[in-house]
Amino acid sequence: MIVVPCYNEQAALPITAEKLLSLINDLLLRELINAESGIVLVDDGSKDNTWNVIRDLNSKHDAIVGVKLSRNCGHQNALLAGLQTAYPISDCCISIDADLQDDIFVIEEMVNKFSEEGCEIVYGVRKERNSDSWFKRTTALGFYKVMRWLGVNSVYNHADFRLMGHRALEELMNYRERNLFLRGIVPLIGFKSDNVYYNRSQRIAGESKYPLGKMFNFAVDGITSFSVKPVRMVFSLGLFFVLIAFFILVYVIVTLCLGKAVSGWASLILSLWFIGGCVLIGLGVVGEYIGKIYIEVKDRPRYVVEQILGLSQNDDQHEK
Ligand code: UDP
Ligand code: MG
Repeated sequence: MIVVPCYNEQAALPITAEKLLSLINDLLLRELINAESGIVLVDDGSKDNTWNVIRDLNSKHDAIVGVKLSRNCGHQNALLAGLQTAYPISDCCISIDADLQDDIFVIEEMVNKFSEEGCEIVYGVRKERNSDSWFKRTTALGFYKVMRWLGVNSVYNHADFRLMGHRALEELMNYRERNLFLRGIVPLIGFKSDNVYYNRSQRIAGESKYPLGKMFNFAVDGITSFSVKPVRMVFSLGLFFVLIAFFILVYVIVTLCLGKAVSGWASLILSLWFIGGCVLIGLGVVGEYIGKIYIEVKDRPRYVVEQILGLSQNDDQHEK
């Protein structure tokens, strides 16, 4: 099953579906996949005509399953909703974005690695990022570097284009966290895995659904969901400050004993502001984690499925 999260993708979807369907047909003819293979399109609470497009596609093609989320839950949750729908009925699932920036022709290589080499997880890795803007390239690179430095093991230049076998997906469903960052979680599952390489192209239609704000949130989520290093850094910084304060104390005592006048207030005010700022930063970091705990403790459902089209054993409305 190919899983595609879609948010306001009415322009890209018809082209995407057609390309994926012809790919599936081709693989079917060459008996690389079985006849039950299909596409799960997840409508992530789109505001445009996406759901109508999906309904149309579903009525025309048996291979297309539509999942409608009751509101916009974000890329990662939409993807998870699709995987959760698809994995009980499939040997493996491939996730890909609706804009086909990822090369669908490496899917064959992914399937081969799964069926012949026994890989449970196959990551699609970009060779270069020429199609992205300079800004996106540098921010993404910085993000991977920071992640690596913080000890989060994610695959470099891999977006959410990957194949996961049934076994790996079963394990993925045991990760119950709300702050979902699949790129960090999937490597934690383990099993035999491999990479396939491809060139990323331009979006086929529509515009990016990841504006700067969303990208920033995504990065912060990725870091704080997997690493407690920021908290430790604040702690070390605190120790360092105490040490400096101790030296200043020694200095003050020495100058007092020597009877020299205390110099102006500027340095005092400056350090006051500086330390105040640091305390606030520290509070912010701690707050981030407490916020996470708060969200996890509530154990809310990550998404609500409103409707599923084209899946045989479904009851129309259920919650996960
Ligand atoms: N997406 C989604 N929900 C959102 C934002 C994005 O399901 O809230 C989907 C979107 O439809 C696309 C994928 O996530 O299939 C990646 O988005 P996009 O291509 O806009 O991101 P970019 O490639 O620009 O990083
Ligand atoms: Mg894209």
